[in-house]
Amino acid sequence: MREVNLNHYNNHDPPVCDPKCHYCQIRTFKGPHWSRICIINEIDNDVLPENFTFIPESEYGEGITLPDESFFSGCECSSNRQCKYEKCHCLQDMTILEKTGRHGEAYTYSLDSATYILKDAYLESRLPIYECHQACKCDENCPNRVVGRGRELPLKIFKTADGRGWGVRCDYSIKKGQFVDKYVGEVITSEETEIRRKASDIAQKKDVYLFELDKFKGDADRDPSLANTVFVDGEFRSGPTRFINHSCDPNLRIFARVGDHSLKRFHDLAFFAIKDIPAGTELTFDYVDGVDEEKLAIESKDKKKQKQMTKCLCKSKKCRGYLW
Ligand SMILES: [Zn+2]
Ligand SMILES: [Zn+2]
Ligand SMILES: [Zn+2]
Ligand SMILES: [Zn+2]
Repeated sequence: MREVNLNHYNNHDPPVCDPKCHYCQIRTFKGPHWSRICIINEIDNDVLPENFTFIPESEYGEGITLPDESFFSGCECSSNRQCKYEKCHCLQDMTILEKTGRHGEAYTYSLDSATYILKDAYLESRLPIYECHQACKCDENCPNRVVGRGRELPLKIFKTADGRGWGVRCDYSIKKGQFVDKYVGEVITSEETEIRRKASDIAQKKDVYLFELDKFKGDADRDPSLANTVFVDGEFRSGPTRFINHSCDPNLRIFARVGDHSLKRFHDLAFFAIKDIPAGTELTFDYVDGVDEEKLAIESKDKKKQKQMTKCLCKSKKCRGYLW
């Protein structure tokens, strides 16, 4: 299999080869033809981990029951345009109603020469994004379905030259506020998460791929089911964003995105650019967004603690020296 994948990184010839072939997995992804993912290695003969499989959307593991779609309720807007305004039912839970534009558009995005970008007030917040979805009266082209429509940027998974393993970049420039892609994986219970953490030789290495869907945990007094959070594990089954590296001075941030409100417990993890990103720049996010920097600074000066800590290789000017 290694040989097959190695050849494919530069040149995928056979129409169909092996279910384990990463290229063949990627080729089944839906989306516009210009948004293709590719894998390149110009550094050595390494291939992506053989036990890794690309999946287009998250998969729900044992013990996870999604709410029934027949209970979904969307907005009743009679035109796509109406979904930009406060009256759209899908915007009712938004915390910031920053009204922009001539007509006071209240949805989370604004249009910048044909690209939807997240408004500044949102970009600087950690607030969830509410979008229209399959149960809404509007259609696929609704302005408030940016994450819902999926990735439109081509992504390149490449081998880094400085020992940070694989990384991700885009050969097109990305605007500040532009949606890049979701983080998908196996959605698992907290019990299963503990089992997987214990099975991993380094628990913190496992944590790199684990995300708790806890954005709405604080609302558990209103909806007790929200207290029982689930996790997304992207280590073995995920999409291209699983290969994005950490930086202490990142160019992306993850936002919680909700479609139908009954799915808050299963919210999406959506990467957005937090600065203008020139074409070809490596994409990064902060693995420990919201870290206790003071505690980290004290610990990283302690010689004994240093031995157990993970050095950060991001080389940014703002580097904290250690990841954790
Ligand atoms: Zn809509
Ligand atoms: Zn609407
Ligand atoms: Zn809607
Ligand atoms: Zn760093």
